[in-house]
Amino acid sequence: MKISRLTTYHAAPRWLFLKVDTDEGVAGWGEPVVEGRARTVEAAVHELGDYLVGKDPARINDLWQTLYRGGFYRGGPVLMSAIAGIDQALWDIKGKALGVPVYQLLGGLVREQMKTYRWVGGDRPAELVEQIRGYRALGFDTFKFNGTEELRLVDSPRAVDAALTRVAAVREAFGDAIDFGVDFHGRVGAPMARVLLRELEPYRPLFVEEPVLPEQAEHYPRLAAASAIPLAAGERMYSRFEFKRVLEAGGLSILQPDLSHAGGISECVKIAAMAEAYDVALAPHCPLGPVALAACLHVDFVAHNAMLQEQSIGIHYNQGADLLDYVLNRDDFSCEDGHIRALPRPGLGVEIDEERLRRAHADPPDWRNPVWRHADGSVAEW
Ligand SMILES: [Mg+2]
Repeated sequence: MKISRLTTYHAAPRWLFLKVDTDEGVAGWGEPVVEGRARTVEAAVHELGDYLVGKDPARINDLWQTLYRGGFYRGGPVLMSAIAGIDQALWDIKGKALGVPVYQLLGGLVREQMKTYRWVGGDRPAELVEQIRGYRALGFDTFKFNGTEELRLVDSPRAVDAALTRVAAVREAFGDAIDFGVDFHGRVGAPMARVLLRELEPYRPLFVEEPVLPEQAEHYPRLAAASAIPLAAGERMYSRFEFKRVLEAGGLSILQPDLSHAGGISECVKIAAMAEAYDVALAPHCPLGPVALAACLHVDFVAHNAMLQEQSIGIHYNQGADLLDYVLNRDDFSCEDGHIRALPRPGLGVEIDEERLRRAHADPPDWRNPVWRHADGSVAEW
């Protein structure tokens, strides 16, 4: 079998799909995208495609190493997301060619079902209690929301109080019947992270995500030493070589690699195993589409330390399309009591509605994250 063609489709809300065709008619799907930079990653995918066309898709390990080490300059969000989507498609091809789900090729299931959580509240966290109440009725008991809006490097107690008031309202409304993570989203600098973590501690969040930006990762062990709240990060780390540094430094309790940013299934299985060796849990980041989610689930189902899976049904980013709009086998993704069962079909287990994708591609989205500014006019972290 030889790889014959790489085709990319842009689709609402902000996704890029990759189809890898072979000369034997088996095709695989991937989702190589950086949110807001879809066209940049698309260019990288096609540039890397020069190494792929004519090659045997079964040799995923060699192709991955060629894409990674074959370029003198490597790593980073664009190249690693391009490799991620290609890697997903190669696993999809292998599973379909052999007639088994990808998790079987990775050694088989370690669990029967995977726990997922819901995003609530949007970019500027609001209506948390109402939204949680609605999703609880669907069986979910774990949630995540943004902790703050714009926050200055050192900000007023009023900003701290606004964050605490929201969290307190959620805890008061539901007691200990729910769990929630609070995403600082890289909006919080080290000085305010210390303050917020201390003040949030009585509300016992399940974790705080990106307490500071990953480029300030040296603060993770210091913040962890000052707080009992488990710290999570990893959506903006792109390879085992980056995760190595945070695992060695300590401080994180949960790693959140993104299967569409951190080199795909091949790389994230290794990152999961590295985390396991440090007693660190895995909660793959996934605010993206169905192929990305399927890739996450295949890792979750073989990684003993996988604790929680993000998924984007109804997420505030999904304007114009939702998670399963381009999927034909939607029932396979059904969530019962907040859990998803192992996807039963060969490969990644996602049957893509290519016709619908073609129509979406004809009117491509051009999503950008908002650029926020502080009251003084300076750029704020979003
Ligand atoms: Mg996040």
